[in-house]
Amino acid sequence: MTKPAKDARRDGPIDLRGLTLDEIEKVLAKLGEPRYRADQVAAWVFQRGVRTFDEMTDLPLTLREKLAGDFKLAGAEVVRRESSAIDGTEKFLLEYGDGSAVEAVILRDSGRTTGCISTQIGCRFGCSFCATGAMGFVRNLTAGEIVEQILALRRSVDPERVSNLVFMGMGEPLDNYDETLKAIRIANAPWGLGIGARKMTVSTAGIVPGIRRLAQEDLQLNLAVSLNSPKQRLRSQIMPIAERYSLNELMDALGDYARTTGRHVTLEYLLLKDINDSPEMAGMLADLARKLPCKVNLICYNETEKSAYAPPSDKTVERFLALLRTRCPTVVRRVSRGSDIAAGCGQLAVPKKRSR
Ligand code: SF4
Repeated sequence: MTKPAKDARRDGPIDLRGLTLDEIEKVLAKLGEPRYRADQVAAWVFQRGVRTFDEMTDLPLTLREKLAGDFKLAGAEVVRRESSAIDGTEKFLLEYGDGSAVEAVILRDSGRTTGCISTQIGCRFGCSFCATGAMGFVRNLTAGEIVEQILALRRSVDPERVSNLVFMGMGEPLDNYDETLKAIRIANAPWGLGIGARKMTVSTAGIVPGIRRLAQEDLQLNLAVSLNSPKQRLRSQIMPIAERYSLNELMDALGDYARTTGRHVTLEYLLLKDINDSPEMAGMLADLARKLPCKVNLICYNETEKSAYAPPSDKTVERFLALLRTRCPTVVRRVSRGSDIAAGCGQLAVPKKRSR
């Protein structure tokens, strides 16, 4: 009997959902299978999203048995699904086979159905406005687990099509770079999920080396950065990561990203009452934004039970927006989605006993 192939990260059978077509081809070649079998397997796994090897009915039974012995199709079960009464946003709690869980969100807007995907369980960066940060870091998700999240959302909303992806859920995507990028390549590939790179957005708290690496990937991904303050000192207070990568370094990296990829970047600015919502901040933010081909997204903070912050009044937001608009090319006030089900920006979290 052949010894099952092991997944070094999980010490178990290899998850087929985390393999590229080339990798599937290689593992099948080792089993003595011809090249075209890899196309068949990839179509079953990514396009049809089957959850068992038995469903791969155009493969010989002997091969299905071999695959079932050596590989797995990491499943995630939707254990909770909540719908917003306000805007049709849906939040899903997905549980993996090892009992760990993440939240993922479906956002519906202007004819688009966007999956908001998590890349880690918890997060090590502790941004002061973020419920995921308050969980602490539990573990990275594998590429297969990230892909499975997309497949689970796709199954859940079928026949609606998940047209866009934002890697803005739990975790910092660029802190789990290799697995996130592999999942993005699988999501993007024609043999994979077939979602265009321009329909995917990676959101970072400002990991400068990750931004520089992403610029070299030859992928036309959208990049969003959680900026939240145009002042170095305040930014460090809100987001401890800013002590490691300064605002100047971050702006340089964003400029290089925009030049290399030809893509505008998005500066996300979460408005916190009496913290970063003054006219002075609006002016400084406009000065920063004018240095880059970028769009500024203004988002009002979502208050939660344990919130340290409050959202500014509508009047303050309008004043901030108006000041910004006089000096900054593209500013959008983004309405926070799914706030009644805690699916909004900075609200995703899984209770500790579930996350492990
Ligand atoms: S905002 Fe992002 S980087 Fe900051 S704690 Fe939350 S998940 Fe982590």
